[in-house]
Amino acid sequence: RAKSEGRGTYRFFEARMGVEVRERRMLEHDLRHAVARGQMHLVYQPQTDVGSGEVIGFEALLRWKHPERGFVSPAVFIPIAEESDAILRIGEWVLREACREAATWPRPLSIAVNVSAVQIHSPHFVGLVHEVLLRTGLAPHRLEVEVTETALISDPNRALLTLRQLKALGLRIAMDDFGTGYSSLSNLRSFPFDKIKIDQSFVRSVDSNEQTAAIVRSVLGLGRGLGLPVLAEGVETEAELGFLAAEQCHAAQGYLMGRPSPIDRFAQHTHGTAQPGPGERKLA
Ligand code: C2E
Ligand code: MG
Ligand code: MG
Ligand code: MG
Repeated sequence: RAKSEGRGTYRFFEARMGVEVRERRMLEHDLRHAVARGQMHLVYQPQTDVGSGEVIGFEALLRWKHPERGFVSPAVFIPIAEESDAILRIGEWVLREACREAATWPRPLSIAVNVSAVQIHSPHFVGLVHEVLLRTGLAPHRLEVEVTETALISDPNRALLTLRQLKALGLRIAMDDFGTGYSSLSNLRSFPFDKIKIDQSFVRSVDSNEQTAAIVRSVLGLGRGLGLPVLAEGVETEAELGFLAAEQCHAAQGYLMGRPSPIDRFAQHTHGTAQPGPGERKLA
């Protein structure tokens, strides 16, 4: 009986897996045309100085509106795009679009762009970034490239060379999702990062959980020791922000200060003009 039950379970999983594989293949196929068909757009999330509350820059986040499925999360489609190499075309579009947009802002705020492992290991990537900076006229120091540790480990020597060449162009490199990858500490020593972004899983309830608080304090100490500014991701409550301020965290990003939104929503920061609408939380 146990055996036949086991087999039934196996068939069930097999069938389910078939659906998942088909689904994935469909998304993979549709992703190839998503940019050309105008289904991709960027939203922007403010990054603020914790001390002053001022907006210091924005992170560009990719959105895909599938014609039948509606919005598909980047957490779902980015890994698929990475496996199929579609990420190269998509990533190039993101870089061009984000730099083009930021270059139009009268205020010289920074623009952070997420870059995947496949891009970092592409032999054309550094040349592409250089060309985009020239073409858009964006001052290189305003561009920040966000990479995760997993983007670096498959070929660390090559990754190091790429990061050095990118820095030679004048831009900055942020380590994204710090604390969730592996051998974080040795990566901090080996790669020329300019900023640490603490993953939101450590920021959530940092004000109420002693262990989380201890971890965040030690990352902030690490940043101080290495001379690297630290940004806390995923700040949702005043209590979390209060903790970060008391511990002298440099910068923060999260729903509390602003959700990823179309850039027009932030015109008062990018252009220093429009007034925030009624009921909106005022950013300094
Ligand atoms: P990430 O780079 O770590 O981006 C932060 C994610 O946290 C974003 O999710 C953002 O919407 C979300 N977030 C920000 N503040 C809060 C908060 O207060 N609470 C909560 N619960 N979430 C918050 P999103 O936009 O769904 O992106 C997910 C991931 O997809 C990104 O993580 C990044 O790894 C990847 N991604 C997004 N856009 C791109 C892109 O253009 N290129 C590449 N290669 N990856 C991208
Ligand atoms: Mg990021
Ligand atoms: Mg992150
Ligand atoms: Mg992430």
